[in-house]
Amino acid sequence: MHAEILAIGTELTTGAKLDTNSQWLSIELAAVGIPVLLHTTVADDMPVMLETLRAAVRRSDIVLISGGLGPTLDDLTRQALADLAGVELVLHEPSLQHVRDIFSKRKRIMPERNVIQAMFPAGSEPIANPHGTAPGVWMELPRPNGARCLIATMPGVPSEMKPMFRDSVLPRLPHSHKIIRRARVNCYGVGESACEELLGDVTARGRDPEVGITVHEGTITLRIEAHGATESECDTKIAATKRLIHARLGELVFGEEDEQLEDVVVRELNRRSQTVAVADEVTGGVLSLWLTAASDSERCFLGGVIGSAVGHVFNVPESNEHVENVLHEHASHLAQQTRLRFGSDFALAIAGSLNTEGIPQLSLALADAHGVEVQEHIPVADVSFARNRAAKSALDLLRLKLSQM
Ligand code: AMP
Ligand code: MG
Repeated sequence: MHAEILAIGTELTTGAKLDTNSQWLSIELAAVGIPVLLHTTVADDMPVMLETLRAAVRRSDIVLISGGLGPTLDDLTRQALADLAGVELVLHEPSLQHVRDIFSKRKRIMPERNVIQAMFPAGSEPIANPHGTAPGVWMELPRPNGARCLIATMPGVPSEMKPMFRDSVLPRLPHSHKIIRRARVNCYGVGESACEELLGDVTARGRDPEVGITVHEGTITLRIEAHGATESECDTKIAATKRLIHARLGELVFGEEDEQLEDVVVRELNRRSQTVAVADEVTGGVLSLWLTAASDSERCFLGGVIGSAVGHVFNVPESNEHVENVLHEHASHLAQQTRLRFGSDFALAIAGSLNTEGIPQLSLALADAHGVEVQEHIPVADVSFARNRAAKSALDLLRLKLSQM
């Protein structure tokens, strides 16, 4: 058994709005063990809607649809459902009363067009919408393989769609005997393909639990998905897979779920009652912002100097030669000076600048009571996240230092 999801609306296909309904519905279905094999987004366009609906009924046991149930001329979903089933739209009096009631509660006169919201394909059932005017549509159609396809159509407005799904659609869906549980493991310090190589068969398709890799600005997320009869069966399988990931990736793993590098750094510093300060010529404050935003960071983050102020505060001789050695020395000097000036246990420095193409030429340094460690930062080609990558690499330097102590 599997489901597919259809998002209907020209505002979605033009890119004016993002389809968040399909994402939400997929997560809800996974929680009850129903896998989703397709998301389709279609414009408010009758031929393409019909074609997509026909294909959906042919290939899926459950089709969840959102959008196009409004009263305006571009809302064609009801008519498309009627055409799909080869029936007429018929008036459902109680739904019309519901629409009228909503208008009278709002002390407005119901425009004649809103009658359409009480029209349903013959043989379908309205789905109550306590949060808006448009009821949803429940339909069951025969599939070519003899089985039935369950089709639930809901309003596009997320605040109406969500309660309608939970209260009226979900209880009608067949219960899967399987449940699906997910977990995430976060890594930093290696590329996506190198990570996959280290993981070996852990990422093989068809493995249970399955492990997928996604990367965002250098942070690699391993998404574990376990199927099982009970939650505890899934949890046991996930725990075993996590142990395997830790064994293969070692120090590259820094956290789980929503945990970011700065969360780990702040937690570890607080655990040791130690502090950090930063000198940051490159990220425009990203590093300080992240540290500040981490929970309880006021205990360990003493502050920083940002941008061209770094040179003035630490009295660095002017040098535009971003030759590697000079930059290394510069970073090392900044980290040590920052540590002294702030009186912190650690100091991180990101030294350098963005070149004319916006690509950073930079060095990272970490100073502590024993000395200073300098790391060349490999510039990334994608300028849009060069700053974030530099901030992450600096945090990672401190994370690794703390984990080795
Ligand atoms: P509709 O039910 O098509 O009249 O949609 C009403 C409003 O709901 C739209 O203008 C969008 O702002 C929002 N909406 C529709 N579909 C989606 C979707 N798939 N994800 C998020 N918002 C949506
Ligand atoms: Mg619409």
